[in-house]
Amino acid sequence: MNNRQAMLEAQKFFPGGVNSPVRAFNSVDCEPPFIDKGVGSHVFDIEGHDYIDYVGSWGPLILGHADKDVVEAVCKAAEGGMSFGAPTQSETELARLVQKAFVNMEKMRFVSSGSEATMSAIRLARGYTDRPLIVKCEGAYHGHADSLLVSAGSGVATLGIPGCPGIPADIAKNTLTIPFNDSQALEQCFKAHKDKIACFILEPVCGNMGVVKPEDGYLERIREICDANNALLIFDEVMTGFRGCFGGVSKISGVTPDLTCLGKIVGGGMPMAVYGGYEKIMKSIAPDGPVYQAGTLSGNPVAVAAGIATLKKISQSEFYKKLLDKSEHLEKELGLITEKHGIAAVTNRYGSMMTLFFTDQKVNCYKDAAAADGKKFVTWFKGMLNEGIYLAPSPFESAFVSSVHSDKDISKTLEAADKILAQIR
Ligand code: PLP
Repeated sequence: MNNRQAMLEAQKFFPGGVNSPVRAFNSVDCEPPFIDKGVGSHVFDIEGHDYIDYVGSWGPLILGHADKDVVEAVCKAAEGGMSFGAPTQSETELARLVQKAFVNMEKMRFVSSGSEATMSAIRLARGYTDRPLIVKCEGAYHGHADSLLVSAGSGVATLGIPGCPGIPADIAKNTLTIPFNDSQALEQCFKAHKDKIACFILEPVCGNMGVVKPEDGYLERIREICDANNALLIFDEVMTGFRGCFGGVSKISGVTPDLTCLGKIVGGGMPMAVYGGYEKIMKSIAPDGPVYQAGTLSGNPVAVAAGIATLKKISQSEFYKKLLDKSEHLEKELGLITEKHGIAAVTNRYGSMMTLFFTDQKVNCYKDAAAADGKKFVTWFKGMLNEGIYLAPSPFESAFVSSVHSDKDISKTLEAADKILAQIR
C-alpha cells in the first residue's frame, strides 16, 4: 500500500484521515507520508522514503526515535504491568527529577497530555484566587480546552479557524487575549478587570506561532504586574521545557512563575504531562483541597518509565552543550543561505527549537508571524519534504533538533535548504 492508498483507507475512519488536525497537511497542499518507523533522527514512510525528522513527534523526542535506554525502560515497565491506578515509587522518582529542573514545582500532579496540564492549571488558578477570568496571548496554544482555544495558535492558526464552534460564548468571554511581548496590554487588562483575573498563562517562549522569544525585560515585567494584581503567573513550558537546558525558560530567564505546565519531553514520547508549583497553591488540589482533578491513567507506569529514562539522560552535563551548538550552527547557516539567495527571512531560535519566517521584519508576536509569506512557506515545506527533510507542515510551528541529529544530517539539511531557497527566490 502506498501513502495515497493508506490515506484513503484512513479517511474512512478518521476526520481528515488523522487523529490530530495538522497531520493532514491541509495547509501545505499535499498529503502526509504514513510513517512506518523511526530510527534515531530519521523516519521512514510506508513507501520506504527516508526523511531527516525535525518534527520529533512535535517536540518530545529530544533523544530521537527509539532511544535504546528509553525503549528498554518502557519494555521493562510494561512487563511489570501496564497500569495500576495506584501509587508507585517510580512516580516519586520522576517527580524528584522534575523538581531538580523546575524549583518552583514544590508539589506537582501528573496527567496524560499537555492539554490536561494547562486545563487543570487554570482551574486551579481560578479555584485558588476565586476569580473567573484568565488572560492568554493571541496565537499562543495551550492545548484544546474550551477556555484556551480562544485566539489560539498552532493548528487553529494553521487552519485559519477564528473561533471554535462548540465553545459557548459564556465560556469564551472569560478568556481575555493580548499580544505577546506587550506588557502594557497586560496592565490595561488588569485595570479594566480589577480583581477579576485569576491568572496570566503564557508560553514564555512561544512555539505555536512559530518560535517567538520574549523581548528583554518582558518576563520580569509581567511577573511584577501579576504580583501587583494578586494574580497567578502560569508558564506553559509543555514545548519549551527541557528544550534549552535541563529546566525551562524559567531557569534561563530567572523569572519564576507560580505554576508550570510540562508535557512532551517529560514523557519521553509517551502520554505524560505535569502541572505544579508552589505548595501553598498546589494544596488546593484534591484530595488536599477542594479543586478537583483526576485521571485513570495519570502517572501511568510505562509513561513514567519513559520520562525517567529521558530525564536521566538529558540531565548529564555535556548533553545541552552539544545539542545547542548543533542547533546554533543550523540557525546560522540557514541565515547565510537565505542571505546568499537574497530572501527576506528571519530564523527565531530558542535552544533546540527554531522557525524560519519568510519576512524581513522582526517576529515578536502573532501579528508579525501571521504577516510572513505563507506561499513561500508552502514552496519551502514541499521542496524540503521532496529532498527528504521532514518539517512541520505549518509556518506556525517549530523545528526540533534532537541529540542524535548527526553532522551529516545537518549538512544534508543545509544542502537541501540551499537548493530549495534558490528556487523560492
Ligand atoms: N501547551 C503547549 C505550549 C503546546 O505546545 C501543546 C501542544 O503542542 C500543548 C500545550 C498541548 O499539549 P498536548 O498536545 O499534549 O495536549
